[in-house]
Amino acid sequence: RAKRSGRNRFVLFDDAMHQTAMGVLDMEQELRNALVRDEFVPWFQPLVRLGDEGVIGYEALLRWNHPERGVLTPGAFLKVAEDSGLIEGIDWRMFRLALEASRELVHDGSFITLNVSPRLFQHDDFDRRILALTHEVGFDPARLRLEVTEGTLLGDPDAVVATLQRLRDAKIEAALDDFGTGYSSLGHVHHFPLKMIKIDRSFITPFAAGVAPRSSAVIEAILALGNALGAEVVAEGIETRYQCEVLKAMGCVYGQGYLFAHPEPAEYWLAKQGR
Ligand code: C2E
Ligand code: MG
Ligand code: MG
Ligand code: MG
Repeated sequence: RAKRSGRNRFVLFDDAMHQTAMGVLDMEQELRNALVRDEFVPWFQPLVRLGDEGVIGYEALLRWNHPERGVLTPGAFLKVAEDSGLIEGIDWRMFRLALEASRELVHDGSFITLNVSPRLFQHDDFDRRILALTHEVGFDPARLRLEVTEGTLLGDPDAVVATLQRLRDAKIEAALDDFGTGYSSLGHVHHFPLKMIKIDRSFITPFAAGVAPRSSAVIEAILALGNALGAEVVAEGIETRYQCEVLKAMGCVYGQGYLFAHPEPAEYWLAKQGR
């Protein structure tokens, strides 16, 4: 049964189908093979200014170019990759490819973001390794932002702050991803040097014409927090014009979502930029 969901036309199976169709051990072996065969690639989705829909940067999103099953999204394999530790090798390969592609993709002050898995961030040489990678690839670290989740911040707070500060000293800023879904409280976030806060899409999705969901209070609180901390706030998962208008009216300046663009390979965006 092929699942077709809008523009994600290459996604042939959904997450649940995968977890049952394939045992965890088989999946681990497949992931190992995929690393050797170099089947992991970055796709990119723009982050935009809601005012004029101008692109301010691109988020690099991991895709698995599976030889039989087409292009797979992380939902189909990320959990096994994380539990097995294979995510570390996958992430480093993915980061290198994303930075290489971004040398052309990113210009005029725009940036790229990479999603960093919590276990990668925990290594004490993580900041040195990512900085070394930017030098190796020839990518300006000032144009790189790292997306971390609340789970990452929940580790040893002093160590996390120190790592984020060293990254900032090296011109690599951090974004807090999926904010509002984890266990960190609003009062906890100010300890961390963050350039950007991304409001989780679950707070945006409930907005439909004529509906004023309870999540609007959460969004307002996050916008106020961002203002107080001098951090940019991005609303994730904007799918409708209505959601975009409501967010603008609330004072949200940045967004991301299918309304503006789906994730696509680098070549797509380069062609679009006329390069
Ligand atoms: P995320 O970082 O929160 O990324 C946003 C996800 O929402 C992406 O799913 C994106 O394709 C999807 N999305 C964007 N706009 C919309 C929208 O308007 N509506 C809906 N329904 N979805 C939207 P994707 O690409 O499947 O990635 C899922 C998650 O996998 C990411 O969530 C991130 O946590 C993780 N991930 C992605 N790339 C990497 C990577 O390179 N390394 C690691 N460790 N994790 C990654
Ligand atoms: Mg992200
Ligand atoms: Mg997110
Ligand atoms: Mg998310």
